[in-house]
Amino acid sequence: MTSVPPSAGSPSVPPVFAELTGQDAVVAQLSRAGAAAAALLDGQRPDPGAMTHAWLFTGPPGSGRSIAARAFATALLCPYGGCGECPSCRQVHVGTHADLLLVRPEGLSYGVRQTRDLVLRAAGAPAGGRWQVVLFEDADRCTEQAANALLKAIEEPVPRTVWLLCAPSAEDLVPTIRSRCRVVPLVVPSSAAVAKVLMTRDGIDPAAALAAARATQGHVGRARRLASDASAAARRADVLRVPLAAVSLGPALSADASLVRTAEDEAKAVTQELDEPERESLRRAFGEGSTGKGVAKAMRGMAGALKDLEDRQKSRATRVKRDTLDQALVDLAVFYRDVLMLQLGAGVELANGDRDPDLRQVADGSTPESTLRRLQAIMHCRERLTLNVAPLLAVEDMTLSLVEG
Ligand SMILES: [Zn+2]
Repeated sequence: MTSVPPSAGSPSVPPVFAELTGQDAVVAQLSRAGAAAAALLDGQRPDPGAMTHAWLFTGPPGSGRSIAARAFATALLCPYGGCGECPSCRQVHVGTHADLLLVRPEGLSYGVRQTRDLVLRAAGAPAGGRWQVVLFEDADRCTEQAANALLKAIEEPVPRTVWLLCAPSAEDLVPTIRSRCRVVPLVVPSSAAVAKVLMTRDGIDPAAALAAARATQGHVGRARRLASDASAAARRADVLRVPLAAVSLGPALSADASLVRTAEDEAKAVTQELDEPERESLRRAFGEGSTGKGVAKAMRGMAGALKDLEDRQKSRATRVKRDTLDQALVDLAVFYRDVLMLQLGAGVELANGDRDPDLRQVADGSTPESTLRRLQAIMHCRERLTLNVAPLLAVEDMTLSLVEG
């Protein structure tokens, strides 16, 4: 029973892939795989080579690699190939589907015990009779031992288990795992593609949509926040004040303290926006408010699930804080990249075209060599943050270099 034709021709695109902005090649690849997977279950001959048991979704932050992986999981588990509306699709959406194991790092990396436990669970048969899908977000955060446990599972595939790993790039995984996965490379969508989504889906006016799309370099979620949330725009303005303040030490240090604080505020805003709807849909999934037999038992189950959810949300908050500061540093680097483009007279699209006077002021007051040194200082700071150097310390050291020029 499936609405997706099992023929190898051109399968229709399941509604659940509609969210993948500017990813036409990926949508085509996953639609073919989904149709082949359905054909396998129906005992028909699948499109040869379209489906496999281990997938690696790669792409820079914001390209939507975990959204794509989740959409694929939805398509595999849905009896209609990814309708987006049936009970199965809704369960995947809220994370309660029995055949979807969602794995996120508990702390900042995956441990071996967590991975072994997962491998054991993944070996079971799917409860719904279709596939057992394991979605591993941030698979690059595996410890070495955890990667070994994972490798074993992928090397000896169980017939109905599908592994979906997500990482910034294929090189972030050990070659032994990488070589056993089919890579799904997400691209950074063009500014025009992102702007189009903001206009058609969110009703944002064209000029604001395009400015936000350019400023966020193709990150749909950030672009939408930037265009529709005044405080997000104010936080970005704070970040971009740093280059202008980096002429003397006093103002520069106060600007960078606000950079760290800004990242913390934004992380808070983002996680709050996610946390409550997740708790809400969990309560709904457990039927809170209903009466009758079995309700007390369901409520006890809910307490455990709620505790799990809160733990995950807490560890996400830590990650978001770190990622948000990193994002602020990327915004800063992109500003200096624009400066460099002006200094070199390169006629490319500027991400910060809406701040032309600021860019010119910094470009006129420095040399390309010093802009390059500043870019290096920002990249060095990003590296130190991944090594868990205290954020304020790393950012202060960077500021000293920015002021020196
Ligand atoms: Zn469905």
